[in-house]
Amino acid sequence: MNSINSCPVCENNSFKDFLEVKDHMITKEKFLIVECNSCGFHFTNPIPTPDKIGEYYKSEEYISHSSNKKGMINFLYNTVREITLKEKVKWIKNETNGKELLDIGSGTGHFLKTVNDAGFVGIGLEPDADAREFAHKNNHVRSSSQEELYNIDENSFDVVTMWHVLEHVYDLRKDLKRIEEILKSNGKFFIAVPNMSSYDARYYKEDWAAYDVPRHLYHFTERDISKLLAEFGFDLKKVIPMKYDAYYVSMLSEKYKNRFSLLGVLQGFVSNMKAKKYGYSSQVYVFEKRN
Ligand SMILES: [Zn+2]
Repeated sequence: MNSINSCPVCENNSFKDFLEVKDHMITKEKFLIVECNSCGFHFTNPIPTPDKIGEYYKSEEYISHSSNKKGMINFLYNTVREITLKEKVKWIKNETNGKELLDIGSGTGHFLKTVNDAGFVGIGLEPDADAREFAHKNNHVRSSSQEELYNIDENSFDVVTMWHVLEHVYDLRKDLKRIEEILKSNGKFFIAVPNMSSYDARYYKEDWAAYDVPRHLYHFTERDISKLLAEFGFDLKKVIPMKYDAYYVSMLSEKYKNRFSLLGVLQGFVSNMKAKKYGYSSQVYVFEKRN
């Protein structure tokens, strides 16, 4: 295990315990989420070392890399994914006329295929070799290993996207600095992450499925992510709700509580109703690179 000694947002080194959360999905091990005493940011600490983290992704249930429709939650996940893919393209078109796009954590390439079909020139970075092969064979899109991030020319892209990926990144500050470099000036950076100040996060507490420890290293709020990105030369332009995530996350959370998953539909609805006060379960933050 790796102890984090400096806050990923403000680099202060004093934290307090916030919440103990079980890895419900795979190992059932418990992990601690701490809160920075200086800026209030929440992160998992300690975390598995990079050479061990692979063991925490090995599950039939970890569905973000697969497309097999088994079980009701997976079925809904896949159906909603198709709708969400189209929405993402629309959100991007609203913010830029540029076409050069980099998707970090491109997985099986479904998003890249959708965005390229809409006229973009999108390429991906993906650490998992099997996912890259799937993307190439089935979706006919180009993706490289994660290390390629450091071989890209500066000012190359109009848009960088990270869909539920930033919360998994080990070298957070290093990668953010690099992303700022490869974006053109006024380039857009789309980041989708869970929102731990949402109503469903408050309601489910340690059973909130989007804590997803130890795979999620960071637990963002709008305030924290704006502060972090501002340091690296980005201004927050827009926050877009991901309304379906409230249902998906709440259903999974009910399952973790050993209750009937359909109860999550109700809580998902309540969370979206209360979003004016707490924000949505997951949000897309649209950042612009400062000149
Ligand atoms: Zn801090």
